[in-house]
Formats: sequence, C-alpha cells, structure tokens
Amino acid sequence: MKKSIEKIFPRPAQPGMVGDGFRVYNMVPGSGISKERMSPFLLLDFNAEFDFGPSNHIRGVDVHPHKGFETVTIAYKGSVAHHDSSGNSGVINPGDVQWMTAGAGILHKEYHEENFSKSGGPFEMVQLWVNLPAKDKGTPAHYQGITADQMGKVTLPDQAGIVNVIAGTFHDTKGPAETYTPVNVFDIKLEKDHRTEFSLPKEHNAAILVVNGEIEINGQVAKEHSFILFGHEGDEVAIRATEKAVLLVLSGEPINEPIASYGPFVMNTQEEIYQAFEDYQAGKFGTLE
Ligand code: MN
Repeated sequence: MKKSIEKIFPRPAQPGMVGDGFRVYNMVPGSGISKERMSPFLLLDFNAEFDFGPSNHIRGVDVHPHKGFETVTIAYKGSVAHHDSSGNSGVINPGDVQWMTAGAGILHKEYHEENFSKSGGPFEMVQLWVNLPAKDKGTPAHYQGITADQMGKVTLPDQAGIVNVIAGTFHDTKGPAETYTPVNVFDIKLEKDHRTEFSLPKEHNAAILVVNGEIEINGQVAKEHSFILFGHEGDEVAIRATEKAVLLVLSGEPINEPIASYGPFVMNTQEEIYQAFEDYQAGKFGTLE
C-alpha cells in the first residue's frame, strides 16, 4: 500500500540567518510541523543553494553549546569546517556528512572552510537535529565524519540515478551512520523522467525534502524546495522525477518521550534544561577557543 501524504509544504517565504554563514529555510518546525510530529527529527534547516560571494572574513557560527541530541550536517555544495571541545575537527565537502552526537554536552563552531570562503561559490547544506532517547542523553559527546565514498551506494536500474544511504537501509543497502534509534536518511539523485520505489516503515515519521528539481509522488507534484510530510498509512513510496531531482528522504521511529527544549539544549524536563544551562555556565562542556 502506498504511503499516505499528509501535506506538501512549500518552502517558507523568508530564510533566516544562523550566524553569518548559514542562510536557512527552517522547514521543521518552521512549517508548523512540531518537534513531536517529526520525532526523532527535531529540526531541519535548509540552506537552499546560495552564493555568499568571495570573502576574507570567514562566515559561520562562533562557539556555542549543544546538549541532549545530535546535529547532522549534510553538504551538497560548498565546504564546511567544524571544531569542537572534545578535540574533533574536520571539513565536509559535497557528499560528506558530519554526524555529531552532542549527548552530555559539547561546545563547537561551524563555519565555511577557509579556501571556499575566499573563492565563494554555490553553497547548499542541510542541518538536522536528531533527538536522543532519555537513556542516551548523557552519552559522552562524539563525532562521525562520514565521507561521500563511505556512503551505502545503490545504482538505480535503467540509469535512473543513485542513492547514497547515509543511515538506515535502502532496499538491502545499509548506511554507515551509527544511530541511537532506528532512522533512515537517504540522499537520492534521480534523473528526469525516471522512477524509484522503496519502502519506509509505516510507524516511522517520514518526509522528503526536494533539494533540487521536481517530482511526482502519489499523483501529486512536489516542486523544488518543498517538504513532503507523510502520514502513517502504507509503507511504499513511488517517485517519478519530472525534473532531474535531488531528494533528502528522512524516516525515523518516534521517540515517545516529553521534549523540553531551550535553544541548543533538548532534554525531557524543564528541570534538566535549568541543569544543562548551569552546567554550561559552569564550564562543564569543556573549552573551545
Ligand atoms: Mn551547532
């Protein structure tokens, strides 16, 4: 049975800035999709392709904390560098993914890679926030830098395109990301007038972001930059690209626990939020220049 579509949301009218380096459309929760509705995905910020121009000043977000969840940055165009208080650092280039588990608490900064900053050029990124279940919120912070060549690779028949499996399983191919709860994250490149079919568990919260191009799904057209929110009936997804398309497919088993959040902290209770703030103020998340 085909997976039901609850609603196709257009891109929000206005982007917002995260620091001075990320010009993002906040699809979740900005479209009116609650943190609970897309659980475990708490947030989806989409930097649709944008050229900031060459700059000697390095654009980005300066040192800030996170606690209680994971930040996942997917690079489509351009390069992003990262530094954190647990000593990890790295650069992600197109096709690469940075999967950072903030867990018990971390400080980091995220910014355009220096040479990319100087040259300018198209920049296209997604950042997801993936919640952790209560039992894993205290896990020590860690980092998975996953390069394009490490992704699960599926070549679609009839030269229809390719699927990079970042997390979870597409048909029989697994993605490299280690996750705390069951999630699927697929990067699908589909050629114009070609099709693909796959299934997503019925009980998962699921959605597709049309990063580029245009598709037809269940007889409905989803335009570039739209966000397709699935319902919980059926499990089969059939897509035809009406234009050459790049799609971010997300599905995850909901974490049915209360969400208390304040800025970069996502816990289960307000008490835990106060504690997180105190711990951060007391320097317990480490130090970062
Ligand atoms: Mn961050």
